[in-house]
Amino acid sequence: MTILIATTNPHKLEEIKAIAPACMKLIALFQFDEVPHVEESGDSFLENSIIKAVSYGRFFDLPTIADDSGLVVDALGGKPGVESARFMSGRPYETRMRKILEQLSNTEKRDAAFHCVASFYDPATSVLLSFEGIVKGRIAKQIRGSSGFGYDPIFIPVHRDKTFGELSQKVKNAISHRARAFRGLFHLLTSVFPSKVLKPFEDHTR
Ligand code: IMP
Repeated sequence: MTILIATTNPHKLEEIKAIAPACMKLIALFQFDEVPHVEESGDSFLENSIIKAVSYGRFFDLPTIADDSGLVVDALGGKPGVESARFMSGRPYETRMRKILEQLSNTEKRDAAFHCVASFYDPATSVLLSFEGIVKGRIAKQIRGSSGFGYDPIFIPVHRDKTFGELSQKVKNAISHRARAFRGLFHLLTSVFPSKVLKPFEDHTR
């Protein structure tokens, strides 16, 4: 069973591979020479993940999973949120994280959460499924750690005192927004709709 993961981020692919059932073969956008640009024009993680799953699924004619994710900071009115990838676009993540820390420098209100919606679309059957994962936590006072990617070094998940940048990939994968969204979605795919969804999967691998 082959599924296209609509990402160009190798870190994301590694996180998803660590969660996926062994029977699924995952391929990613960076394995193709020609990849169309898909505008993330939605106002929500759900909308953007569906736009990407449907667009890439139709273009490559493959069952496709796309996720949309981001960091939601309460004291910033939910920003950067769906704009997480585009916030201060082109600047290193260290600069972007420093900006967030600066914006929070006068407040003790540091509640935040990582959100991820993973959507599956199969062009052969038009089956569309989505699952959301959230991990709550808080923004650290400083940038700490270097593992993971993006805003990991400033996010401390609940019940921990280390940032995602300091925690191992194994720990992140056990509790992260992406792990929760993908586990839920894989569960839906493999156990809730086996006859409707898994059959067309098998056809794609012939
Ligand atoms: P997406 O690729 O459109 O989903 O953009 C997600 C953006 O949100 C990434 O480029 C990161 O800036 C941020 N983000 C999402 N998930 C994570 C994570 O697990 N760690 C750190 N940053 C993340």
